[in-house]
Amino acid sequence: MKDLDLLSTCCAEDKFHDECGVFGIFLNESEDDCEAARTTFYGLYALQHRGQESAGIAVSNGHEIQLHKGMGLITEVIKPDHIKKLKGRLSIGHVRYSTTGMSNVVNTQPLVFHYLNGMLALAHNGNLVNTVELRKRLAAYGSVFQTTSDTEVVANLLARYSQDNKIEDALARCIMDAKGAFALLIMTEDRLVGVRDPMGIRPLCLGELNGNYILASESAALDTVGATLIRDVNPGEIVVIDQDGLHSRQVIDSPRRAHCIFEYIYFARPDSTIDQVNVYQARREMGRQLARECNIDADMVISVPDSGTSSALGYAEEAGLPFEEGLMKNRYVGRTFIQPTQKMRELGVKLKLNAIDEVVCGKRIIMVDDSIVRGTTSKKIVQMLREAGATEVHMVVASPPTRFPCYYGIDTSRREELIASTMDKTEIEKFIGADSLHYLSMEAMFAAMKSGEDTFCSACFSGKYPMEIET
Ligand code: SF4
Repeated sequence: MKDLDLLSTCCAEDKFHDECGVFGIFLNESEDDCEAARTTFYGLYALQHRGQESAGIAVSNGHEIQLHKGMGLITEVIKPDHIKKLKGRLSIGHVRYSTTGMSNVVNTQPLVFHYLNGMLALAHNGNLVNTVELRKRLAAYGSVFQTTSDTEVVANLLARYSQDNKIEDALARCIMDAKGAFALLIMTEDRLVGVRDPMGIRPLCLGELNGNYILASESAALDTVGATLIRDVNPGEIVVIDQDGLHSRQVIDSPRRAHCIFEYIYFARPDSTIDQVNVYQARREMGRQLARECNIDADMVISVPDSGTSSALGYAEEAGLPFEEGLMKNRYVGRTFIQPTQKMRELGVKLKLNAIDEVVCGKRIIMVDDSIVRGTTSKKIVQMLREAGATEVHMVVASPPTRFPCYYGIDTSRREELIASTMDKTEIEKFIGADSLHYLSMEAMFAAMKSGEDTFCSACFSGKYPMEIET
């Protein structure tokens, strides 16, 4: 948690942050030695929203694994010259926004190891909740660690269990020990392996491109490289891709599903379909549900772009109000502007968003955002709209109040920094300076998802964590 707190002070946006995206491909044959690395590059490019602090690609040529990784965006880390050197038919890649583990180059992924049976590379999205216990156990057997990341703990477990076993057998033992949220890609010299945690908290899907298999965090990455979505990897399932094709093994059959509902609210791309639910349609339906719960007399609906837009469209449609673009986002502002002080963070909002006076002046506005975390950004946006001449600003949030931190791989603020955990609705309304504030209810959120509480993790709203947290 210490590392997480340190990072949370550096967040440019007043949002939860997903921390990783993974992508892997096994080419049966290829004329171009660099095709696997190049496809992985574009897959990671499509997953950049899941992590912007570091990126890396590992490639196997059947005999050894090569790696290039570093701090920065995928386009900053992987240049054409690097792709030319990453030769081989198997590849995995990773983009990272770190949670467990300090944000530095040693913790960038994929991690590549030598072990008894050769080499392996690992790329992990998620967070284990029993890392301390596992580290102690491994240290007692003589394991040493060079990073602070929980991925290295998984690597050590794998190395330990693989002494007399194939990698997938070792992995099966490993996921019995590891508790938490994980979508994990493992590459040996000759196979690509994917595994998803038993409750399916973090997403992982399987795709096909010209007879070759791909594993990716989101289906949008498959679309980007021209692949087709076959299916999601099942919770607790191991999929192995080798020269003989695809092999699957259901290792754990948990009766409880806990897909992260925040993927649908904010993290994932709207053009992704996760566990058979399209993210755009889920957000739009949340907006419709919100309109049914609110009764606001207003002239128009606007969104906080881009994450509030799908829900705002649903809200406008259901309320019979026009949707307008009242706020414009500078899409070229990246993490360059991140500064750790509150003062700079507030300036960051202005750099990123601007009100269109001609749209909002003299109007009663319903402003839709996906969530409120600290409330500082919402406050600035409300103020910006008033300065642009809006006569009323009603803030509607397409999710319930976020009151609890996440322990499953999402960088959240500390509980006391989550505005809804320290203030009630009226106090938040006053703090952000809105004429009214409305949140989506838990019931309406599940109604929008067309599934009940037992299908999703919604612990950051309810505090009901689907699995025990190590203290
Ligand atoms: Fe997702 Fe929230 Fe659960 Fe974390 S606590 S996995 S962000 S729903």
